[in-house]
Amino acid sequence: VSDSHRLLRQPTDPRMHGFSHRSTVAQALHWIDQHARPLATEWVSLTAAASRVLAEDVTSPVDMPLFERAMMDGYAVRAADTAGASHYEKVRLRLVGELLPGEAPKTNVAPGQAVRVMTGAALPPGADAVVPVEQTESLAEFVDVLAEVVPGKHVGRRGEDVQAGTTVLHAGRRLRPQDVALLASLGISQVPVVRRPRVRLIITGNELLPLGQIPHDFRIVDANGPMLAALVERDGGCVLEATMIPDDAEAVRHAMLQPADVVLVSGGTSVGKEDHAPVVLADIGELAIHGVAMRPSSPTGMGRIQQTLVFLLPGNPVSCLCAYDFFAGRAIRLLGGRPSAWPYRSRRLPLAHKLVSQVGRVDYARVRIFDDHAEPLAIGGASILTSATRADGFVVIPEDSEGYPAGAEVEVFLYEPLP
Ligand code: AMP
Ligand code: MG
Repeated sequence: VSDSHRLLRQPTDPRMHGFSHRSTVAQALHWIDQHARPLATEWVSLTAAASRVLAEDVTSPVDMPLFERAMMDGYAVRAADTAGASHYEKVRLRLVGELLPGEAPKTNVAPGQAVRVMTGAALPPGADAVVPVEQTESLAEFVDVLAEVVPGKHVGRRGEDVQAGTTVLHAGRRLRPQDVALLASLGISQVPVVRRPRVRLIITGNELLPLGQIPHDFRIVDANGPMLAALVERDGGCVLEATMIPDDAEAVRHAMLQPADVVLVSGGTSVGKEDHAPVVLADIGELAIHGVAMRPSSPTGMGRIQQTLVFLLPGNPVSCLCAYDFFAGRAIRLLGGRPSAWPYRSRRLPLAHKLVSQVGRVDYARVRIFDDHAEPLAIGGASILTSATRADGFVVIPEDSEGYPAGAEVEVFLYEPLP
């Protein structure tokens, strides 16, 4: 397949000739899946491990718990001694000691004896059950048992939670807070995780002003830099640097050559006079895909410079969002060992009115949810940023579809982040 993609490379400068060929979304996804393999393993402290992706299975070095323990505050007894005990027929046992959590048992529990225990304390030898304090009456040197217990009652068995040698968490697991707790309990303080992809942002455009400026004259403030940084963070990557450069081939070349796992170029990705990124990428690396049959985001490109994956994202903010979500995000998630699927929940909803699409391209329609219906807002209008902020989500209309009539049920991907 990579051979057939190589044929798609345009040997001559494509600028001002328009796209002679567009790849399908499926071809672009396939290229990503071929080239975005999980990065190497790194060891991190457990305190920094939550939400990281485990690179290897973790096997427990110990039984947990390591000892038989009391699960209630009460009295460690021999269950047989409590046979027939009730409120009317109390069984009197001699109190021979007390055990707190963390203490080693000092006394044996012989027939007719009991040891006062607190939750988490070891079960003293001889005892095989715990009578909860609520089912006893305490006297100075004795305890009266008011209920029968069976062997093992209120006792945590050694290894009942985890047995030494078993796999507790599998490679690929995104560590949850409770996973971190489990690993800590097993005495593990360092874990092997997939390295986070290091992502470089290159924001191109002579017209751009940096964050914090107020738009003036004919210039606009960079919207894609902050958006891409948030998207990269969401997908587990870390942004190394966001560089803003003018539409200048030398500047694009220099920025693209800086080390990174992934380079995201915003703007200048099409076939216009000022669109240098595709030409530069083809020159210093491989431009595997340029032009994708979709709307918005058709002037998307991707390729690589040695091990670095490079995504050329159109400058219109909605196109940039869409191209990131379809392609760059998938690559970043895969590099970081995450599932390729979108980190969006989806809901099936009927359309409030018809949604027209063109056969031959994938459409990305922003929709609003109203009255439990999906209300299409826009497919075009890639420069209208509020079409993505007013929307609750989006519907993807496949290449071979002409769209859907009013009332048809569609899958809406919800922009709202997963909790
Ligand atoms: P381009 O992809 O460079 O042809 O840009 C397409 C449109 O998106 C133009 O109107 C640009 O001014 C605009 N644009 C490019 N980059 C950005 C950016 N970083 N933030 C907001 N708009 C942009
Ligand atoms: Mg531009």
